[in-house]
Amino acid sequence: TDVRELLLSRIRDVPDYPEPGVMFKDITPLLADPAAFVALTDALSEITVRHGATKVVGLEARGFILGAPVAVRAGLGFVPVRKAGKLPGATLGQSYDLEYGSAEIEVHAEDLSEGDRVMIIDDVLATGGTAEASLQLIRRAGAEVAGVAILMELGFLGGRARLEPTLAGAPLEAL
Ligand code: 5GP
Repeated sequence: TDVRELLLSRIRDVPDYPEPGVMFKDITPLLADPAAFVALTDALSEITVRHGATKVVGLEARGFILGAPVAVRAGLGFVPVRKAGKLPGATLGQSYDLEYGSAEIEVHAEDLSEGDRVMIIDDVLATGGTAEASLQLIRRAGAEVAGVAILMELGFLGGRARLEPTLAGAPLEAL
């Protein structure tokens, strides 16, 4: 579609970033283009509303940039999932494995509860590790998962297959 072409045309390939052999997808040209940023916000909002979400969770850091306008557009609250140690209140945490070592994400416990239906928003799905930990965290907070909506899926990394058991039927939509 036209929207897909527009979005793709505003994503820049950066070779060997953040390390040799990695082709990084840089979304800053898209954010700097108002037509593309609005089109992206509208498309992610449409997914969010269509799946009956009642809250938007954005994953640090680019998931904040995309998730916040989606929440406003959809008339929903925004909840940040942050890297460990950044949130001041009582948190729930979820650790996950990286290629070398591990990482942990957190959410304010009071921001999610039973009855919430959460749409998870991020820019890029790569190995799926971040999204998988987020799904686990949201469910442990007592909320239901409405789905995962992302700008770009790097299919060759197999994130969708890895996420399938954890999604447990919840939709994963990539623009
Ligand atoms: P995963 O956990 O799926 O391996 O990695 C996804 C996370 O890393 C997302 O939060 C995403 O923002 C970031 N990420 C991984 N690769 C890229 C990339 O090529 N471009 C951008 N913009 N983010 C990436």
